Amino acid sequence: MNRSAPADRSTPGPEPRGTRLTVAALRRAVPIKMWGGKGCGAACDFCRVVVSQSDVEYEIEAELDTQRVTLHFHPRCHDAWKAGREPPAERPADEPGPAIEQADGSSPP
Ligand SMILES: [Zn+2]
Repeated sequence: MNRSAPADRSTPGPEPRGTRLTVAALRRAVPIKMWGGKGCGAACDFCRVVVSQSDVEYEIEAELDTQRVTLHFHPRCHDAWKAGREPPAERPADEPGPAIEQADGSSPP
């Protein structure tokens, strides 16, 4: 008999990067580097909405209380963050996007 399988599989461990920064903490963050790219599925640190893959994502390396943190923002949230504004109110499934009017001349039934 040869039992070589380690029985140690239950390692809870600390959450890798589940730290949610408050808006107050974001205000203290000092940006160091910044990248732009496609959304990678990370949630925006400002509005907490996931940046979809069809969206542009700003990734910011910042210093917060002598710690390096990586922030993800929508472009508009990055602007709001830089301007010191409040994040938009959380909306479950009703994003207040710009209304695109279909003006193709078709008359309603
Ligand atoms: Zn956002």
